[in-house]
Order: sequence, then structure tokens, then C-alpha cells
Amino acid sequence: MSELVIKNLHVSIENKEILKGVDLAVKQGEIHAIMGPNGTGKSTLAFTLMGHPSYMVTGGEIWFRGKNLLELATDERSRLGLFLAFQYPVAIPGVTVANFLRSAVNSRRRLVTPEDKGMPILEFRKMLKEKMELLKMDSAFAGRYLNDGFSGGEKKRTEILQMATLKPEIAILDETDSGLDIDALRIVAESVNVLSGPELGVLVITHYQRLLNYIKPQFVHIMLGGKIVESGGPDLALQLEERGYDWVREKYEETPA
Ligand code: ADP
Ligand code: MG
Repeated sequence: MSELVIKNLHVSIENKEILKGVDLAVKQGEIHAIMGPNGTGKSTLAFTLMGHPSYMVTGGEIWFRGKNLLELATDERSRLGLFLAFQYPVAIPGVTVANFLRSAVNSRRRLVTPEDKGMPILEFRKMLKEKMELLKMDSAFAGRYLNDGFSGGEKKRTEILQMATLKPEIAILDETDSGLDIDALRIVAESVNVLSGPELGVLVITHYQRLLNYIKPQFVHIMLGGKIVESGGPDLALQLEERGYDWVREKYEETPA
């Protein structure tokens, strides 16, 4: 079984410490949510997990499928089965959604079997069609250029389609704090619910309490000041829904940062 394990993770941006000792373990088959107010380091954690060069790991460890993640490049992490939905997906005019997904799928296959010739085109089309139906996407979408002129909701759907075709062991979905409307939020949530199962572990990162109306995580964590200060079950989500973050701030903010 695949597991993502984060131990005492410290991360700095431009010499400023943002993450101050994060501990977290996400197993395949589990849904975790990290909630927290703006500016507490949620996106920093997501970017660090994918190996973004601006985020300096100054302490701690990250293990995934028994490998030291910090020694792997971003594409190696991805081929190993870690998926990060991009907050700001880039447009690639000239490359269709289908072609992009096919090369991503094939690149993952080659990691398992280096001499793999790639998924036969008919098999790929069939698989893509199934996934698009599952996610209630119009089939014309596959022929459009990646993210070129896509609406926010379409970009979200494309991200989720990428997740559905790549079949990662662990997916990290970081929701921007701005520009994400309730429809986009719902798309993400519904898709997570459709795709989740024993094969997929999900870490949803958001400051929207509303997300929890749509996704039912088994584990809820609250991040404040670069640390996970509370972890619990769905009851913690209910508390956040009822009381917001103020009680968390009151309880922990006097802790020296
Ligand atoms: P969250 O996702 O919880 O809203 P972030 O991880 O985006 O928080 O940001 C955490 C802190 O790091 C904030 O204080 C933010 O200003 C700072 N920060 C984020 N990105 C950068 C950057 N590229 N350069 C400098 N500071 C940054
Ligand atoms: Mg963020």
C-alpha cells in the first residue's frame, strides 16, 4: 500500500520560515482535508510536495512509497504516483487535451516498464471516453488545446480528468484562496467523490469550509502558522463549519511563531 509520510517538515521561502514542523501521513484509500486561514502555509506544503524550486526544505523528511521524495525531481514524483492539481494551470496551444494526457499516461507506464511502447491508441481513446463520461465531460473537450481559453471551471475539470487518467496513488488538490467559485469547488468535490476508493489517497487543501459540504474526509487537519495544530475526524469539520477559525486562533495564536 502506498503512503505519503511527512515528518517534521520545515520549509522557507526567501529565507523566511513558512512551514514550522508539519507531520502528516496519508494512505491510499484515505481522504484527508487540510483547512486553515489564508497565509498559513497550505499552498507552501502543496508546492513543496511537488518539488517547486522556490521552496527550500530546511528540515524534516518526506517519504512516498518507501522513497525519499526530497531526492526526486518533480516528474519522478509524478511518475511514482503523486499527483498535484495545479492552482494556475498553464495553457499549451497546439497540444490537445487528449495528446497531453496520452503522453502523461505513457510516461508513467515507462517508469514501470522501460521498454513499454505506450498504450495503444484505441485503448487510450476508450479509456479517455470512459473517464470523461464518468466526470460528465463533453467529449469535444479532448480535442481542444490544453487550457487554451478554458474557463476556471473547465481548467478544474481538466485537472481532474488528468487525475482520473493518470490514476495516482495519492492526489493533492490545493484550492486557491481566490478565483475559485462555488461551482469549481463543487466540480472538484464531486469528482473526488467519484474517483475515490481503495486505490486513491486524497489530500484536499482549502480554506473553504464549504468544501466539506461536498467532500466527506475521514481526517481533518487544521493548519495555523505553518503547523498542523489540530487533527480529527469529520466532527472537526463540523466545528469549523459552525465556529469558523477564531477559536483555533484563540487557542494557538499566543504560541510563539
Ligand atoms: P496559504 O496557502 O495557507 O494561504 P501560502 O502557503 O500561500 O499560504 O503562504 C504562506 C506564507 O508564505 C504567506 O505569508 C505568504 O505571504 C508567504 N509566501 C508564499 N509564497 C511566497 C513567495 N513566493 N515569496 C515570498 N513569500 C511567499
Ligand atoms: Mg493557498
